[in-house]
Amino acid sequence: MSMERIFNFSAGPSVLPLPVLEEAAAEMTNYKGTGMSVMEMSHRGKVYDGIFQETKADLKKAMNIPDTHEILFMAGGATMQFSAIPLNLIGKTGKADYALTGNFSTVAMKEAKKYGEINIACSSEDKNHTYIPEQKDIKVSPDASYFHYCSNNTIYGTEWKYIPETGDVPLVCDMSSNILSFPLDVSKFGIIYGGVQKNMAPAGAAVVIINKELAGHEHPLTPKLLSYKVMIESDSMNNTPPTYTLYMLGLVLKWLEKQGGVEAMAKLKAERSKYLYDVLDDSKMFIGCADKDARSDMNVTFRTTSAELDDKFIKEAKAAGFDTLKGHRAVGGMRASIYNAMPIEGTQKLAAFMREFEAKN
Ligand SMILES: *Cc1c(COP(=O)(O)O)cnc(C)c1O
Repeated sequence: MSMERIFNFSAGPSVLPLPVLEEAAAEMTNYKGTGMSVMEMSHRGKVYDGIFQETKADLKKAMNIPDTHEILFMAGGATMQFSAIPLNLIGKTGKADYALTGNFSTVAMKEAKKYGEINIACSSEDKNHTYIPEQKDIKVSPDASYFHYCSNNTIYGTEWKYIPETGDVPLVCDMSSNILSFPLDVSKFGIIYGGVQKNMAPAGAAVVIINKELAGHEHPLTPKLLSYKVMIESDSMNNTPPTYTLYMLGLVLKWLEKQGGVEAMAKLKAERSKYLYDVLDDSKMFIGCADKDARSDMNVTFRTTSAELDDKFIKEAKAAGFDTLKGHRAVGGMRASIYNAMPIEGTQKLAAFMREFEAKN
């Protein structure tokens, strides 16, 4: 039918585990003897309810989520949460803190500005987001309703290596591009959220893990479907949820558990990215974009000595089976997105290809 699967370095929607795709394909037209596809089922039916509750339970287990927190599945991706967060939380004091370490944290801040007073607690904009600020450089406002940051900067290829200390101010974190890739103490967070299309599932939903104490204080004009209180009370089923996406998330979570869970993912992501960072450290042609101590294990950003050579590299890499390596226009050059589902051979072989390319050029 078609050629073999290639190594897909897309930033998102991105690579999914092959066994998950195969299982979904096998169940596509007849889910476990029901005579119908999961896509065709009522979200209120018994079979789908089983899928939904199991997915929720598996996520709770995978991330060791305490009972103080509720898992919500909401439509609209991470970007919809940029609005939902201030609508639900900023009313407490009218103020919020934002850490600006890349594109998405800046977009989130601009959206929140519509609803209250924003303090920029720290920013890496002075060096085009090539680094992560240190704790001592973060100015937390004691009267902020919450503190928002983005744990992995998908476009710039930087990752927070620590959880910021914010005292009594609830932590809200956009974990879209590194959720489920490392063990984490969820109890430290007011909200963890992420679009599912990077490390969890096909596009179509956001996962929101919220300390239940934060719900119920939303602005009166908050759309019903963006109210955390409404979503908690209706178990994310006030209306039709993205049923097939959540079924796929369930399959990914089963796959993740088989691999050894988030502990195994943390080990694997360090190994996977090392192949590429070793090339960058050895090379006279390839240059890493991010500071060494801020390097992301999920998105590796780099360039060569010229834009022409970048183009040549991207073209030749694609022909050799390494797809979607073009960097975001804000950074230029190349970006290899290497999420949980990227096989280790993907970066091993790309690293070898880079060394060969350098030798030839
Ligand atoms: C991709 C991404 C987003 C945007 O996600 P959508 O689901 O498309 O809204 C937000 N934040 C981060 C960190 C991302 O990587």
